Amino acid sequence: MMEMLLRQCSKEFLHFAACLQPCRLQHCGQGHGRPGRLLVSRLFQPANLREDRELGVEGRQGELTCRSQRLMLRAGLIHPASPGCYYYLPHTLRAMEKLVRVIDQEMRAIGGQKLNMPSLCTADLWKRSERWDLMGKELFRLQDRHNGEYCLGPTHEEAVTELIASLGSLSYRQLPLLLYQITRKFRDEPKPRFGLLRGREFYMKDMYTFDVSEEAARQTYDTVCQAYCHLFERLGLSFVKVRADTGSIGGKLSHEFQLPADIGEDRLLICANCSFSANVETVQAGEADCPVCRGKLTETKGIEVGHTFYLGTKYSSIFSASYNTPQNKPAVTEMGCFGLGVTRILAASIEVLSTEDSIRWPGLLAPYQVCIVPPKKGSKEEEAAGLVDALYDGLGEAVPALRGEVLLDDRTQLTIGKRLKDASRLGYPYVVVAGRRILEDQPHFEVCCQNTGETVFLTREGVFDFLSNVQTV
Ligand code: ATP
Ligand code: MG
Repeated sequence: MMEMLLRQCSKEFLHFAACLQPCRLQHCGQGHGRPGRLLVSRLFQPANLREDRELGVEGRQGELTCRSQRLMLRAGLIHPASPGCYYYLPHTLRAMEKLVRVIDQEMRAIGGQKLNMPSLCTADLWKRSERWDLMGKELFRLQDRHNGEYCLGPTHEEAVTELIASLGSLSYRQLPLLLYQITRKFRDEPKPRFGLLRGREFYMKDMYTFDVSEEAARQTYDTVCQAYCHLFERLGLSFVKVRADTGSIGGKLSHEFQLPADIGEDRLLICANCSFSANVETVQAGEADCPVCRGKLTETKGIEVGHTFYLGTKYSSIFSASYNTPQNKPAVTEMGCFGLGVTRILAASIEVLSTEDSIRWPGLLAPYQVCIVPPKKGSKEEEAAGLVDALYDGLGEAVPALRGEVLLDDRTQLTIGKRLKDASRLGYPYVVVAGRRILEDQPHFEVCCQNTGETVFLTREGVFDFLSNVQTV
């Protein structure tokens, strides 16, 4: 009983401490600091912290760069650590957590169950599938103190299949089984480059499916592909699903999800006539016509953001991942595996949506949805500063979905123009400014929708109304 009471008390204390946390900020932000306010001046965001100089804009000397890498470095979203490895700074992490939420929703909607597998994988598993040799230098290999050999997981077909096998036969009633994880993957890429587009350490969502038959596995394959389509549609990204090579993973059927972009490292052939589209790797060299309708094929470049495989029994037969049939006989499961490049999707969407000097995010993923810019210190509009604070404080009440999503750019020593430039550079979807019309009898705020380029002037209630339609995740 005492123990229970103590536990209850400490739970309450933790809750109390958590509530206190935002308050700590108020002592630091001068003037605008109030509990719970998110102040731009307090963000750990190198571009803000050091206003006078831009950080590693071009990356390492002589390094090939691309738009997303330049923009992310310049805005202080990522910071280089070693080739292909980055610090993900707070804005990036917020966007990534949102992407993870969207992915979780989509995977759960098709019955996916999330787990987490070790990154440290024993060589034994990889030797059994013969990929220990096949993967060559791409595997990060290491030894433990007992000379046991390991690799850092670049993907987890072996591990998940061994897991299923080691639990004994599944019942046919438990299938299809869709397991997935979102974890760091490690690949010693020959050419790590383009920031988060091709890292040596990156986040991937990998799903593995187990079915009773080829027919059922193909159906699961289609279901997961549809979930991927739905995901990219929700993110507002235009994508193509192309026929793909099965590479070192193996299997019988495979597709890639590609975002068309000049910087893309994949070459795609798309038919102008029918729905045929394929990675060049799968088409006979020199073929210029679509194999389905003989229409003309046009070539574009793409960034591979997802890859799906129907594996058949390639891994399940090696590891004996089986299930019991209704007749209580053991049978080998039919598998599929489905990758999504989580960090690559972040960078690729910045790559395709941004302008040369301003980041644009898929609306759902923007690190913060709204940035409010109060008047400059000493300006005529400063007398309306209270209205801006009230707007900020009222917004969370009026639009609960935006709680924790609204920044206040309290750097009032800077002109509105300078702060707007920063807001544009970081790509907050909505920027609310207290400009000249804030002094009218009926004060109006200026709302800039950065994704559409549209600007509207609205009263306080108008702003609440307008922002109540913002989609969050
Ligand atoms: P690529 O051809 O670009 O090297 P892959 O075909 O080797 O990729 P998969 O094994 O299919 O990659 O991995 C699943 C997904 O993980 C890919 O579709 C991609 O989005 C992402 N991914 C793969 N390699 C990297 C990397 N080095 N950095 C970031 N994301 C990656
Ligand atoms: Mg691939």
